[in-house]
Amino acid sequence: MNALQKIRLFSLDIVNAIAEDALEQMLKPGARRTAAFVNAHCVNVAAKTPVYTWALKKADFLLPDGSGLQLAAKLQGQRFVENLNGTDLFVPLCRKAAARGLSIYFLGSADGVAHKASEAARRIAPALKVAGTHHGYFSSRDEDRIIDDINASGADIVLVALGVPQQDVWIARNRHRINARLVMGVGAQFDFWSG
Ligand code: UDP
Repeated sequence: MNALQKIRLFSLDIVNAIAEDALEQMLKPGARRTAAFVNAHCVNVAAKTPVYTWALKKADFLLPDGSGLQLAAKLQGQRFVENLNGTDLFVPLCRKAAARGLSIYFLGSADGVAHKASEAARRIAPALKVAGTHHGYFSSRDEDRIIDDINASGADIVLVALGVPQQDVWIARNRHRINARLVMGVGAQFDFWSG
């Protein structure tokens, strides 16, 4: 549970807050929390993919990503105070994590990309602790090992870049086994920041 305002769209409760307030809630110590970005593409995929809808409903923070969501809110006479997309959130997330001594584990994307994204994060916030990195092309047989690695690293935050809907389903299924305070699906962010 968290104290943020939400707007209900497509039976999903989407966070209506400025990035600063959303991140404050997401990074609170204590409960294990999950977050996902929701854009128009996600809504379309969710409509056809029940397990993805299940995963989104299970997330603690659904963040409004893009003009499609803003338009949908407007049609209901509401308005998101801020667009919370992955690219914009990455920088303050890295800075806040570094300032608080919270480490980040980067899971996903092609071999080497997560590592490059972690280096980009260190350029944004030089004090950031990188807990570890792992590519996103693994089979279910590797899952226990990867989750052991995440937990052994002591990661406070895990960013998961496996694409939509896989990443959010993976997070919902495995959340209970991951000790980090925040696990968040980040789509193609590692590619963006490593490029
Ligand atoms: N990805 C991955 N494992 C997979 C499928 C995708 O790590 O099995 C990564 C991919 O390399 C990319 C990220 O997931 O870095 C996002 O993928 P995509 O662009 O397909 O997803 P979307 O932007 O639609 O979420």
